Amino acid sequence: MDKILRIDVGAAGGPKATEVPVGEYAGLGGRALTSAIVSREVPPLCHPLGADNKLVIAPGLLSGTTGAMSGRISVGCKSPLTGGIKESNSGGQPSQVLARLGYAAIVLEGQPKGDDLYKVVINKSGVKITADNSLKMLPNYDLIEKMKKEYGDKVSCISIGPAGEMKLSAASIAFTDMEQRPARHAGRGGVGAVMGSKQIKVIVLDDTGMGMRAAKDPEKFREANKRFVEGLRKHPVTGQGLPAYGTNVLTNIVNEVGGYPTYNFKQGRFDGASKISGETEAETETKRGGLATHGCHRGCVIQCSGVYNDKDGHYLTKQPEYETVWAHGGNCGISDLDAIAKLDFLDDNYGLDTIEMGATIGVAMEAGLAKFGDAQAAINLVNEVGKGTYLGRILGNGAAVTAKVFGVERAPVVKGQAMPAYDPRAIQGIGVTYATSPMGADHTAGYAVAQNVLKVGGDVNALKPEGQIELSRNLQIATAAIDSTGMCLFIAFAVLDQPETFQALLDMLNTFYGLNLTGDGVTDLGKKVLKMERDFNARAGFTAQHDRLPQFFKTEQFAPHNVTFQVKDEDLDKVFNW
Ligand code: SF4
Repeated sequence: MDKILRIDVGAAGGPKATEVPVGEYAGLGGRALTSAIVSREVPPLCHPLGADNKLVIAPGLLSGTTGAMSGRISVGCKSPLTGGIKESNSGGQPSQVLARLGYAAIVLEGQPKGDDLYKVVINKSGVKITADNSLKMLPNYDLIEKMKKEYGDKVSCISIGPAGEMKLSAASIAFTDMEQRPARHAGRGGVGAVMGSKQIKVIVLDDTGMGMRAAKDPEKFREANKRFVEGLRKHPVTGQGLPAYGTNVLTNIVNEVGGYPTYNFKQGRFDGASKISGETEAETETKRGGLATHGCHRGCVIQCSGVYNDKDGHYLTKQPEYETVWAHGGNCGISDLDAIAKLDFLDDNYGLDTIEMGATIGVAMEAGLAKFGDAQAAINLVNEVGKGTYLGRILGNGAAVTAKVFGVERAPVVKGQAMPAYDPRAIQGIGVTYATSPMGADHTAGYAVAQNVLKVGGDVNALKPEGQIELSRNLQIATAAIDSTGMCLFIAFAVLDQPETFQALLDMLNTFYGLNLTGDGVTDLGKKVLKMERDFNARAGFTAQHDRLPQFFKTEQFAPHNVTFQVKDEDLDKVFNW
């Protein structure tokens, strides 16, 4: 991974690829690399869909190795949804393949001339870019079938659906999984719209003939990886809960503690929770011949995913995650798991962020466009987006835009991005992360649910403001570092809870690269990433006033605990004081 592939989509005669040495970005991977490139090369005040924005796609530091869990990929740009810096990451096969092809990153830059749509094919012989207008407005699943016919059943793909081509702010970028399904997405922040603005429909990756990346000390790397995997297997969350029920194991847990946002963040418990829980989902999948335990890429040992079949036993979608089940389920008052799975498929197929779309439909229901609980109406609304009707284009620009257009005050967004599946009044630590993350409302940026609810890695009272600032700060720092390794964030449960598993991760990095990284070094990396991101946002015009939750979280009591968000503004301003 010593080179960067830069594709100038505005070059004379059509997009032009150039390979350049990694240079000043050496030693960075994943989020650290995407945020470094965006922060140094993108003018913060540029239009996110214009010539000056860049889309950076980067595997992690350990991607393409035999290291377990190392297949996450980061996508960075200036976000059309938030107007700030964005890193959105995904599972799937492309991270491993891109790393084995030797690329630290792909950077799409410039502005296309004309309206041709392009595909990029990368293999060990080089890069080929061709105009292919037969791909225009193809949904992701049809597109990937076409790519399989053309390039075979070994390639992996990075693509956008119609939502990306329409440059909607909720558009995602899809990454194919082990079965070549476009079911893994960098969903957040409208990264798909930026890829659409560069008029690149799909990047096909073929690593035939390329070997695994070799460690500096292969023997010690193998041994560290073994300890790392043992640590993941013995922890109750990564060894049992996530493999058995996936992330949707959280539905019953978060509902029970009264932090499950229901009917567009009106109350903390949903009557229909048991019908859409991880337990019900896993049972349904197994009964129909799907899978309740499955990995999104080779080398995943936690395997939090699965395969969801329809009533006739045919593939419908990958196992919808907790956030998706919540967004299209409880948040919209929907307790029909098949309808939720259908919505997950539609989002993946059109190339849309499931969290943003679920939150948007919740807002649309509050506006009276449909009734809470009406699953068919929700499906119809997502289809409006896929068809690109005027209503669909409003919805496809997310919860904040939809709330504005339809006069809804209660928009659950921070920096324009919709909140995920944890109410910040009943789980105050996650509220601090939502408010202050440079990404906008993002649970993965500092997952305080672990200490507030699951009591993993510490114990902080979820209903009280005390201790939440420090908790969110430490988690945001650790997350920024983990997001740079290419490791799935779910390793954090074991790594933060078991010092020997954290040490194993350090040993993997050190033996692979010949480094002497310590725990303090990891903390420094996390701080460096956050500092770059916050600096970009400051130059883009963000102030402390943007690090706030919407007013209704401070004034509306949230049942069953009848609490409001209690963390003071002046304390939110201390999150990044280290
Ligand atoms: S634990 Fe889940 S999200 Fe993480 S790599 Fe495995 S399947 Fe993908």
